[in-house]
Amino acid sequence: MFPHPRLAVFATAQNERSPPMAKDETRRPVTSIAGRPRLTDTEKDLIRLAQEPLFPRWLEQITAIGGCAHPIYLAGHTTILEASTGAVLHHYDTTHEPGGRLAVRCRNRRETRCQPCSRLYAGDTFHLVRAGLLGGKGTPDSVAEHPRVFLTLTAPSFGPVHRAHRKGAPCTPRRNSATCEHGHRIGCGQTHADSDPLVGQPLCSTCYDYTGHVLWHAHAGELWNRTCRAIRRHLASAVGITQSRLGEYARVSFAKVAEYQRRGAIHFHAVIRLDGPDGSVSHPPHWATVELLIDVIDAVVRTTQVTAAYARGIGEPIFKWGTQFDVHEIWHAFKCDDAISDEAVAAYVAKYVTKSVGDAGGIDRPITSLGEISLLPLSRHVKTLMSSCWVLGGLPEFENLRLRSWAHTLGYRGHILTKSRAYSTTYAALRAQRAQYVGHMDATGTVTDAVWRYVGSGHSVAGVEIAAGIAADLAALREVRKEIADRGPCG
Ligand SMILES: [Zn+2]
Ligand SMILES: [Zn+2]
Ligand SMILES: [Zn+2]
Repeated sequence: MFPHPRLAVFATAQNERSPPMAKDETRRPVTSIAGRPRLTDTEKDLIRLAQEPLFPRWLEQITAIGGCAHPIYLAGHTTILEASTGAVLHHYDTTHEPGGRLAVRCRNRRETRCQPCSRLYAGDTFHLVRAGLLGGKGTPDSVAEHPRVFLTLTAPSFGPVHRAHRKGAPCTPRRNSATCEHGHRIGCGQTHADSDPLVGQPLCSTCYDYTGHVLWHAHAGELWNRTCRAIRRHLASAVGITQSRLGEYARVSFAKVAEYQRRGAIHFHAVIRLDGPDGSVSHPPHWATVELLIDVIDAVVRTTQVTAAYARGIGEPIFKWGTQFDVHEIWHAFKCDDAISDEAVAAYVAKYVTKSVGDAGGIDRPITSLGEISLLPLSRHVKTLMSSCWVLGGLPEFENLRLRSWAHTLGYRGHILTKSRAYSTTYAALRAQRAQYVGHMDATGTVTDAVWRYVGSGHSVAGVEIAAGIAADLAALREVRKEIADRGPCG
């Protein structure tokens, strides 16, 4: 028996008696002149793989990494010795593994690149954000009592775009039939569904401020940093102390995630928490209330700006947040009209880290030439944002913004998730904990000797299919387990 249902195809493929593919296979084999089925490349590769003597072990490896879509292959060894005697407690090497190598996860956070690894990353993000709100993973449970808010920051408008239907409102509700100087109607009047590809596209692409959009992206990281500093400064002055002494009383911790909107502009969602002087372990001072934090953030978001000085061309543009910002108290474990629960916030943030600019119609790899942009199967709006990055990136006054290297992210250079050191645990700590759980962690009193090298990555054509099947099966298994857990043992 083959260990995976998808591999039943080998039973027929191996002896080539009949057309070997399943009903849903789109690439059906073409019958050659001689009447024998001509195999597709995938089928030939399936046969090759299945005939490998270590094929079952390879399946085990791919299952162990959750059906990762782009595994990294390593060769080497790990030996764990008892420190006092030098006795070998554990030895593993790849000599007897398929191809003399071991598959490890690609760990890509993007759903479009690797679904199983992005799921794992989202899970880690959930725990990381949740620990900062409710405690756990090394953060005390008392953080749930600290003032905590959820802040959403947007980019300003760079020109009107088509909007999805919101509570019955049409796209751009302008009654008149006025047109812009390029002859495009200023209003739209249609009611767009969320899935409408027009949503996020400008009403007039000539009126749309593409330069402003990509330059705002290029300064968004600095705008965030200044906002954080201003929150600390305003807090200090609100309670009558100098900014330099704020650390003796309180600390501001945060975790933030960037999300691309349909118009190709980023949003930031951030959890902001007020702690005592030693971070999560210390109680905030009596004056540190949610109301004070919200008032301070409200004032800071409205006034913080970055002024960029350029040698020539566009003068001294000022970059600010959009007027559509939102700040809410995070309530502990339940939901009410004006606040959101900590669990909901953690799940919300986790969902966004697996998204990429791809979800706004972009791509998730760097651009190498202007010509490449025109060939990409993307909306005209996103391609214009990318070419604006490329063109501006070639000008000496914008050199430090590295707009060409970041054309694929529409000029934004920041990370998708950032957090302050004191917020909660780290991805590395969560991964180490997982490794310990499966029994690969060093015990005390031992010495580890390990030598590993990179020997390749990715799957063969048939490997892609098999890994996807394994990932789908593991996902189905998780669903079943979840259903059983939700229902309880008595069903
Ligand atoms: Zn992966
Ligand atoms: Zn519209
Ligand atoms: Zn126009």
